[in-house]
Formats: sequence, C-alpha cells, structure tokens
Amino acid sequence: MDTLLLNNIKDVRHNIENWKKDGLKIGLVPTMGALHNGHASLIKKAKEMCDKVVVSVFVNPIQFGPNEDFDKYPRTIENDKKVCEEIGADIIFAPSPKEMYGENKKLSNIDLTFVCPPYSLVDCLCGKSRPGHFDGVATVVLKLFNIVTPDYAFFGLKDAQQLFILKNMVKDLNLNLTIIPCPIVREDDGLALSSRNTYLSAEERKQALTISASLRKIESLYKQGITDVSTLFDTALSILDKNTELEYLEFRDYDNFEKVSNVKNNTLIAIAVRVGKTRLIDNIIV
Ligand code: AMP
Repeated sequence: MDTLLLNNIKDVRHNIENWKKDGLKIGLVPTMGALHNGHASLIKKAKEMCDKVVVSVFVNPIQFGPNEDFDKYPRTIENDKKVCEEIGADIIFAPSPKEMYGENKKLSNIDLTFVCPPYSLVDCLCGKSRPGHFDGVATVVLKLFNIVTPDYAFFGLKDAQQLFILKNMVKDLNLNLTIIPCPIVREDDGLALSSRNTYLSAEERKQALTISASLRKIESLYKQGITDVSTLFDTALSILDKNTELEYLEFRDYDNFEKVSNVKNNTLIAIAVRVGKTRLIDNIIV
C-alpha cells in the first residue's frame, strides 16, 4: 500500500479533515525516524486499533542539548517510508524544523512557547543529565497532537519516563486522546532496539548486552523474593561491563514516579549507560 510522504502541516490537516468527515479513528506514532522493529511494533498496534495511521518522523532540535547528537542522528527517510508502506501506515509526516518552528526563531523559550512538565518528573533519570530535554519532547508532542488530532497516540515503554510525562500532560492539559503504551522490542540477545545502536562498534555492542543482562538479573532476584534496592543495585553493577559508565540505575513506583527502597509490583527499574560515546537507556517494570 502507498504511504503518502508529507512535509507540510497544511497537507496533513487536509487529509485529516477528510478522514474526520468520514468518522474514521486516527492513530499517531511519533518518531525521530531511523525506523526499526521497535517503531514497527507501534505502527502495527496503531493499524490494529485505528482506521488511519500517521507516523511522524522528525528529529526534534529542541529536545537535544548543545553537546548531543542532533547533527549525527541517523536520517533514513527512504527506508522509513518502506517500513511504513509494508505495515500499511497512511501518512508519514516528515516536516523540516522550519515547518515546525518557523523561520528566524531562536529555538528556546526566548522565542517559543514551551510545555514544561512538572519538575518532580523531569528532575530525575534522563532529565538530570539532559536539562530541557523533556520540555522539548512535551512541546513537540503537543504540537503533533494539535496537527494530527489523533484519537490514539502510541509510545514505547522503552522511554518509560517520557511515556509517564506525556500521560500526565494529556491529563493535566485535558487533551482529548488516549495514549497507548507499547512493550519494549529487543534483539534475540536482549539488547533493546534503538536507533542509536547503529553508533556501536562490535566490541561496544557486546558491552551493551550487559545492560539488559543486569536488568534480567534484578528481575530474577526479585522473583526469588529479594526486594532490597541496594542489594539489587550492587548485583546489577557487578554485571555491567567494566568499560561502560553507569549514569543512573533507579527504582521508582510506576504509579506515581516516587523512589522506592523496596521493589514491589509495578516498580520501574530504569538504567542509562554510556558505552563508548553512545548513551543507551533500558528498563523493566516488574
Ligand atoms: P524515537 O524514534 O527514539 O523517538 O522513538 C519513537 C517511539 O518509538 C517512542 O515512543 C519510543 O519509546 C518507541 N521505541 C523506540 N525503541 C523502542 C523499542 N525497542 N521497543 C518499543 N518501542 C520503542
């Protein structure tokens, strides 16, 4: 099936208006492109639940810090289109930064209206080392919601903090849509799929495997009845490859995002690790 590749907000809105006239249910899958099977699982879920599916592909400048990988982030729109076509998405919306934010603007709150998620949700985990990141994410996602006006929006649990923040945004700002969380897709050896895995050398990829291994170890110890966070933390640390650098390993209640000292049901165990120059994240919810 043909997937329309659209770069303009006006063209997307035109299609959406026609679909709405016909009473069709619309699903949105926001991505930064370089689509892999993790993204594909979200698009498939959207196809199952909706009549029409829009996949956005936008490497969003306002969610990257000055020393992050905005310039070298993989951009593979031809392949992204193929992936969307195979699954049967109706539209890929791939705007330029100019289309999203206008010309001659400083992409900061000097010139732009931002959505600022609550401090308690951003001053931890990825937000600690990436100041402003979740403001950028929430802002672009709200813009995408306003452009596409979906009934459902699909997000991966791979980015568990992002998902939690966006669910709160929907509730706090009375947005008229439902967020659908989708499970993490992994390689057969356990590595969580990520567009950033393409940065890894063969040696680094081996080191990266110890990230999911450490989470699996925590899960198996928890199943054996060990709940003490410091014990679980130390065990995970002993499994992580010594050439990697742990940025955080945190245990939080996934109902309210508060830190826990004993793991219980619905605890998010989230980890960020630097492998060479590449920063990778992963998590489990037990
Ligand atoms: P990104 O392109 O990295 O911004 O991701 C776009 C969406 O795909 C987000 O909702 C991610 O959580 C989701 N995603 C990325 N990797 C995976 C994965 N391995 N499994 C499931 N969802 C994923």
